[in-house]
Amino acid sequence: MAEVVLEKVNKQYDNGFHAVHDLDLDIADGEFLVLVGPSGCGKTTALRMVAGLEDITTGTLRIGGRVVNTLSSRDRDIAMVFQSYALYPHMTVADNIGYGLKLRRMDKSDIDKRVRKAADMLELGPLLDRKPKELSGGQRQRVAMGRAIVREPQVFLMDEPLSNLDAKLRVQMRAEIAQIQRELKTTTLYVTHDQTEAMTMGDRIALMKAGVLQQVGVPQQLYDHPNNIFVAGFIGSPPMNLATARLNRAGQGFELSLGSAVLSLPDTVLAERPALAAYAGREVAVGIRAEDMEDAALARDSSAQGRLRAKVTLTEALGSEIVAHFAIDAPKVVTSDTKELEKDAHVDGLLAAHQAINTFVASFAPRSRVRPGDEIEIVVDRERLHFFDPVTGVAVR
Ligand code: ATP
Repeated sequence: MAEVVLEKVNKQYDNGFHAVHDLDLDIADGEFLVLVGPSGCGKTTALRMVAGLEDITTGTLRIGGRVVNTLSSRDRDIAMVFQSYALYPHMTVADNIGYGLKLRRMDKSDIDKRVRKAADMLELGPLLDRKPKELSGGQRQRVAMGRAIVREPQVFLMDEPLSNLDAKLRVQMRAEIAQIQRELKTTTLYVTHDQTEAMTMGDRIALMKAGVLQQVGVPQQLYDHPNNIFVAGFIGSPPMNLATARLNRAGQGFELSLGSAVLSLPDTVLAERPALAAYAGREVAVGIRAEDMEDAALARDSSAQGRLRAKVTLTEALGSEIVAHFAIDAPKVVTSDTKELEKDAHVDGLLAAHQAINTFVASFAPRSRVRPGDEIEIVVDRERLHFFDPVTGVAVR
C-alpha cells in the first residue's frame, strides 16, 4: 500500500517566503491526484517536498504509512517525470530507460525484461536502439515515462510532464498517461497549471492558490460545487461568468436583480442553499456557467422569467457550439480571488480585466443564428446559478 499523506505541511524558504501553508492532502493507494493552480501557487514546492528534493519546514509526510520527512529522495521509492525529460543524448532509448536500474546494480537480464515491458506499454518497442535526437517530442516524453515505469516505484511524481508538447500531442499523451497509470495502479501525484489536464486526468483534483489549498475533490465536484470564487473561476473553460447582483424578497419567494434583468428564483434554489436567504436585501455575487445559458430563440421554455437581454459583441462558431460574448450591465465582482484570477488570465482575459464592462460568455447550440451586434434574449438555468459572498468570495449554500 502506498498511500501518500501530508499533514499540515509547510514550506518556508530560506529568504522567509512562505510557499506552502498547512497543506493537508491524502492521496489514496493507487489514486491519480492532480495538484493544480496558477504559476507560483506552490504546487512544485509541494511535489518537491514529497520527492525529498526540498526540506519540509514543518508538518508530516507519510508514504505507505511510514514518516519519510528526513528520508533521502532515493530511499523514498518514488519515480519522477519532469517537464524537461533530461534524457542522456549519447545513450539509446533502451539504455536511457534502464539506466536507473543499472545504477541500482540490477541484473542485466532483469533490466532487459523490465525495459521491454515498459517499451511495449509505451509503444516504444521499435525505437529502443535510437538516440534521443532521433525521436519526436512525444516519443522523448514516453522515454521519460518509461524510465519512471521500470523502477516500479510505490509513487509516481510528475511535474508538468506535457508542457513541452504541442497542443494535439498533449491531448493524446494525457489520455495515455492516465491509462497507463490506471493499468499500473501506482499512486500518482501530478502537478500542472492546466485545468483541462486536471479535469481530464485526475481521479481527484487539489487546487492551490498562493500556497493554500482551496478545495480537493473529484473533478465534477469542483466544477459543480466550487468552494469559492477562485475555484469557480479557475476550473472550467471558459471560466464561470460572475456578476454582482442584488437578492430581494418578492412575495413568498426571492428574485435576483442582475443589472436591468430581474430573475425570479424557483423555491428549489433557496431550498438547496439555505444560507442564501441571509443575503435578502443585499448584494451577492452570482456565477453562471456558459452552458447554463441558452439562446431564447431556441429555448423550449417560453416563460419570460429567467431571461437576460443582451447585445452580442462577438461570436465564435466552434462547430459543436456557438460561443457568444455579450456585455452585461451588472457590475463585475471584485474580490481578492478575482484579482488573483485576472493575474493568471490569458491575454483576452487581461484585456477584459482592464475594461470596466462586464463580459459574459455563453455556449449556444450550433443551430443558433446569433451574430455580433444582435440584441438577443438569453434564458438562464436558474437552478444552476452559483452564489458567493461578494466580499469573501466564499460559496453561499
Ligand atoms: P510554476 O507553475 O510557475 O512552477 P508553482 O505553483 O509550481 O509555479 P513553486 O515553484 O512551488 O510554484 O513556487 C512557489 C513560490 O515559492 C513562488 O512564489 C516562488 O517564487 C517561490 N520559490 C520557489 N523556490 C524558491 C526558493 N528556492 N527560494 C525562495 N522562494 C522560492
